[in-house]
Amino acid sequence: MSALLSIRGLSAGYGGASALDDVSLTLAAGETVALLGANGAGKSTLLKALLGLVPARGELRLDDVELGPLPTEARVRHGIGYVPEGRRVFPGMSVRDNLEVAGLPAARDRLLDVERVFALFPDLALKSAEHAWRLSGGQQQMLSLGRALMGRPRLLLLDEPSLGLSPKLADEVFAAVRHVAAAGTAVLLAEQSAARALAVAPRAILLRLGRVVGDGPVAALSEEAVREAFFGG
Ligand code: ATP
Repeated sequence: MSALLSIRGLSAGYGGASALDDVSLTLAAGETVALLGANGAGKSTLLKALLGLVPARGELRLDDVELGPLPTEARVRHGIGYVPEGRRVFPGMSVRDNLEVAGLPAARDRLLDVERVFALFPDLALKSAEHAWRLSGGQQQMLSLGRALMGRPRLLLLDEPSLGLSPKLADEVFAAVRHVAAAGTAVLLAEQSAARALAVAPRAILLRLGRVVGDGPVAALSEEAVREAFFGG
């Protein structure tokens, strides 16, 4: 299978401090992969580097497009959707407007996509005219995910979507992620909760101190390797 996403020798950091060191990985079209690692392992930095939100060195390709020279909005146009940590939505806008401003330029496509998001999250459909600040944390996470889907991504980057949610709401968010993945979108899911991520993703990549320390089918990753990624040797 040819890769949808291909990363080779990626390094990134903040000022002098390195946060990612020589990271290489590939994702096939439609594949769901968990990106696991402790606090500070570099998960968020990896997603941000893919979007051009932090300076990075190395090769980043989406299909045959070299992402490195492209600004963030061009990367999004090429098919990357991003759900940042902390469910960022526009609190003073209605739920529908939050979705529409993230949509494709053609009004017909946009309306169709809003209806798709509402079909995926019926709770949002019920609150379509409400201001986003009135939504619960779980609904805001769904709205944030819905906004990313409005761009019809081929690759969806999710940064800790279950953070701060009750187990029930986290389950709902993960059910939606499974649905999106089943529809053919590739998903790279950064998570601190290994148990949750592994329930969604058949393959995991383990990051520790900015380096890849494991990559493979979940069934083949030893508990020890996962433990080491989180707690060290
Ligand atoms: P978390 O679960 O805490 O988000 P993470 O695996 O996503 O962890 P990153 O946020 O990518 O990890 O952080 C990787 C490293 O980069 C850490 O050492 C962190 O302290 C550092 N770092 C992250 N953001 C910044 C920043 N804006 N300025 C300076 N250092 C940063």
